[in-house]
Amino acid sequence: MKIVSVDAIQLKRLDVSAQTPVLCRINTDEGIYGYGEAGVSIFDYSVGAYQLIKLMAKMIIGMDPLDTDAVYHKLAGNFWAQGNGGVIMAAISAIDTALWDIKGKYFGVPCCKLLGGVHRTKLRTYASQLQFGWKSETFMASPGDIGFLQEACHAAVEDGYNSVKIDLISKRLDGKPTSSEEMHIHFQPSTMRELEKKLDACRQALGSDVDIILENHNGTTAMTAIEFARMAEPYGIMFLEEPASPLSPMDYQRIAAHTNIPLATGERTYTRRGFLPLFQTGCLSVAQPDLGNCGGYTEGRKICDMAEAFSISVQTHTCNTPISVAAALQFEAAIPNFIIHEHHTVNTLKEVTDLCIYNYQPVDGYFEIPDRPGIGNELSEKALAEAVVIESVKGA
Ligand code: MG
Repeated sequence: MKIVSVDAIQLKRLDVSAQTPVLCRINTDEGIYGYGEAGVSIFDYSVGAYQLIKLMAKMIIGMDPLDTDAVYHKLAGNFWAQGNGGVIMAAISAIDTALWDIKGKYFGVPCCKLLGGVHRTKLRTYASQLQFGWKSETFMASPGDIGFLQEACHAAVEDGYNSVKIDLISKRLDGKPTSSEEMHIHFQPSTMRELEKKLDACRQALGSDVDIILENHNGTTAMTAIEFARMAEPYGIMFLEEPASPLSPMDYQRIAAHTNIPLATGERTYTRRGFLPLFQTGCLSVAQPDLGNCGGYTEGRKICDMAEAFSISVQTHTCNTPISVAAALQFEAAIPNFIIHEHHTVNTLKEVTDLCIYNYQPVDGYFEIPDRPGIGNELSEKALAEAVVIESVKGA
């Protein structure tokens, strides 16, 4: 089997979530094709990956799509990819995922069977980013007030989730962003009181049996993350995500020395070489590689195996289209150190679920692993018809 063409696909912008989905479809001489997504759609950085997919297509046409490791190393070994950047790794990840999709279809099995086999048939799932509401069309325009947060918590619990994730720090109660000056060294007492008021309101709305994951989106530094974590500790926090820059492993050491809340990061960390310095701190409890930018299944599996050697659990970061959701489900079924699956509120919106032919959703907070060959999803005719641009790169 040979790769005969690669389609670069830029879908219509999702204004509600400020995302431009970019994918590739790889076509073979046997008529089997596969889909993969570049996991940098937020704030439209994916348009860079779109151009890179076209460029890389020329490097892989004629290769056997089953040679996933060889293709990966050819792409990851090219001049600029050796610098490990997010956009270039997103393009490589999209191509790698598409090849694994082809491989699954070729052998007639879901990708989890090729990634090591099934560790579990159901994934515990958390409702993610409740500061945007839950299943709320207001999304990024959502207010930051207590009533809205509690409404989102109630909606997630009613849906059967026993774990949720919330960013409490990026927006103030009045809806305005928290100033970067405040998040640098020290939260003012009034700001900290407000943060605790919001966390307390969420805990009350959720009850005592629901796990809370806190998400700082890399807004805090080590100093403010320590203040924040100490305030949050009595509320029973499952883990704290991106309390500081993932480029500063020493900050994770400083934070971990002052809180017993487990720490997580990984959505903007690429390849094993990117994760290794974080793992070596001994301060990370949860690695969150995004399969759409860490290097796809090929590199993602290796990151997870390396994490296991450091007793680190894995939750893949998932906030792109249902193509990425499907890819993550297959992957998380097959890794031994899985902890929980992320279901982003964006993937509950019809505008997003309509992009693909299958709409996988969790039931009572658990995802069933689909058993369709490959990653188990593909773009809908509607999404393709409304795409901004599709270009097909063919062999000479
Ligand atoms: Mg995050």
